[in-house]
Amino acid sequence: MQRYFVTINDGFASFSKEDSHHFLNVMRGKKGDIIEVINEGKVYKAIIECVDPLQAKIVSEIEEERENPFKLILAFSLLKKGNDELVMQKCTELGAYSFIPFVSSRTIIRVDESDKKKKNERFSKIIKEAAMQSKRAMIPAISSILSFGELLNVEADIKLIAYEDEALNGKHLSEHIKNMDESKTCLVIVGPEGGFSKEEVDKAIACGFKPISLGKRILRAETASIYVSTIFSMKECGVI
Ligand code: SAM
Repeated sequence: MQRYFVTINDGFASFSKEDSHHFLNVMRGKKGDIIEVINEGKVYKAIIECVDPLQAKIVSEIEEERENPFKLILAFSLLKKGNDELVMQKCTELGAYSFIPFVSSRTIIRVDESDKKKKNERFSKIIKEAAMQSKRAMIPAISSILSFGELLNVEADIKLIAYEDEALNGKHLSEHIKNMDESKTCLVIVGPEGGFSKEEVDKAIACGFKPISLGKRILRAETASIYVSTIFSMKECGVI
């Protein structure tokens, strides 16, 4: 069943230009088709009433809960070879609440202001597609690309930085979130291919972050972000 994020007024759903194009020209949709639409975290069954402009009449609400109540704010470094796009796609499927892309001292790729805007647009598109595909009831937000210093000023109830030097003896992520309740947000920072400098970690600690382990082995940056999101999925299922 096709699913679209829409705006709803007086019982009628309206679509974005790109979603209208997708429905009519890619999916060959037509008047009378039944689809699912999402608005403000709620899912509805709807019937296509008009194709120009595309509009659907809300039929009924669909009771389902697919969102993870334990809110992971994932801060990830820009990565080479599109690995940051892989992070967003997989971590959206795994239920991450929101994303903060950043650049730190050992981030390999460098972006200028115009690149940043293009990257953010691309990131938003990937997140929306992954949210639709995984039937999420919301599209995770993504901030603009921050510097490491700006990132340390972001507020969250629990603030953690995954630090490779903590791998063997540090406290594991799961220990830090096992008592987390659904009203809290948890910001987890995952570093770039080159990792974090000790100075960066010391600065993070001074800003209230705790350095954590993601297990005994050193994971690639993209693997580490996917691992963090998976741990939150295990929390959601009650394993942690
Ligand atoms: N250049 C670093 C090195 O050789 O040790 C590895 C950095 S790792 C590729 C990228 C990021 O993933 C790290 O900065 C950290 O945030 C996270 N990470 C990977 N494995 C980890 C682990 N076992 N414990 C904590 N963080 C880890």
